[in-house]
Amino acid sequence: MTTRGTGLNADRRRERALALAHARTVVIKVGSAVLSNSQGLDTDVMAELARQMAVVRNAAAGRRLVLVSSGAVAAGRAVLAANGQKVEAAGLAARQAAAAVGQGRLIRVWEDSFAVHGISTAQMLLTRDDLRARARFLNIRNTVAALLHAGVLPIVNENDTVSVSGLKFGDNDCLASLLVNLADADIFINLTSAPGVLAADPRRTPDAPVMEYIDDAAALDLKQLCGGKTEAGSGGMYSKLLAAGRAAQIGVPTLIVQGRAPDVLIRAFDLELAGDGDAPTFFDACQGTWVFPARQAIPHRKFWIAYQSEPAGDVLVDAGAANALLRTGGSLLPGGVHAVEGSFQKGALVRVIHEGQTLGVGLSNYSAAYLKKIMGLKRHEVAAILGDAHYPEVIHRDNLLLDAAV
Ligand code: GLU
Repeated sequence: MTTRGTGLNADRRRERALALAHARTVVIKVGSAVLSNSQGLDTDVMAELARQMAVVRNAAAGRRLVLVSSGAVAAGRAVLAANGQKVEAAGLAARQAAAAVGQGRLIRVWEDSFAVHGISTAQMLLTRDDLRARARFLNIRNTVAALLHAGVLPIVNENDTVSVSGLKFGDNDCLASLLVNLADADIFINLTSAPGVLAADPRRTPDAPVMEYIDDAAALDLKQLCGGKTEAGSGGMYSKLLAAGRAAQIGVPTLIVQGRAPDVLIRAFDLELAGDGDAPTFFDACQGTWVFPARQAIPHRKFWIAYQSEPAGDVLVDAGAANALLRTGGSLLPGGVHAVEGSFQKGALVRVIHEGQTLGVGLSNYSAAYLKKIMGLKRHEVAAILGDAHYPEVIHRDNLLLDAAV
């Protein structure tokens, strides 16, 4: 929490204002709660957001926007209900069917809303699997770059109809955080139903104020703040902060702000208001919660390694190994591992855990089965089992991300 008017806050506001003013590529994520109401898609809200995005885009030469839009399931359910077709409230197949019905409608409303402002759009539907293989990841990255280069606004959603659990992003906050990396974004804006990030769990502290700034997303106690993961699908503030934490790691700030607040994007970017609304003041521009980027950004490759898939298992390490990883920049060696959980293949992404704390995630040079054979052993003992041509490290330093937001 911060108090207004201090020198520190003036610095923060300046930093925020400069980051927004200079942003070239902006990823904007809009949640279903913003886009829909009990009747399905709220086309007025969508038209208004498209108008604001057009203003933001045109405000700086060469500025490019990527939109991550939820709402397919909500739209589909409404269409089916309106046609008197029975929709199950729960279940994967029902959700996937609703998404199949709703995605077309979702994209049509966006397309029409942006066309009014002369902006062409493109639909991109992704599954987590699409980003997992490096070659496919690079291919998608090239496609996004080509679209942006052509002045087209990509509208991305999870390909819900074919995503199965384990291969899902889980929520669009996660998908958007991966796109921040993929599109080489400068700013991530998460438009949500909440006014920002509250300083305490609102279920326990109903009058908790909105935090204006978060200096270090990695230091947040998400359990304390949001009571852990909330409703499936919408993700809640937990997944928004996880996504913001990821963006921060690659040096990208996040603005978490209420999507339906009047002129929200225009005020955030401190642009001229159309019509007779009050001109934005510096204070207006400070609405929502601004999550600062980490001072030292991690390489994009490490980001991709850490977040391209869900960790497939856990590697439990002793105090000596934890110390080597955290303080001396070492790799994880077989001798430091004392237990392995889950079954995974060589090359899989795994969590590194010490005394119940996740230290980070990394790519394992060994399958779970092999690792169990060599854990706790010294190098010559490993060689006696596996021969000389084995990997000295379980996880090489270059394939490890500490403080991962998982
Ligand atoms: N992809 C889902 C949809 O379009 C939404 C997922 C999410 O809200 O996180 O309805």
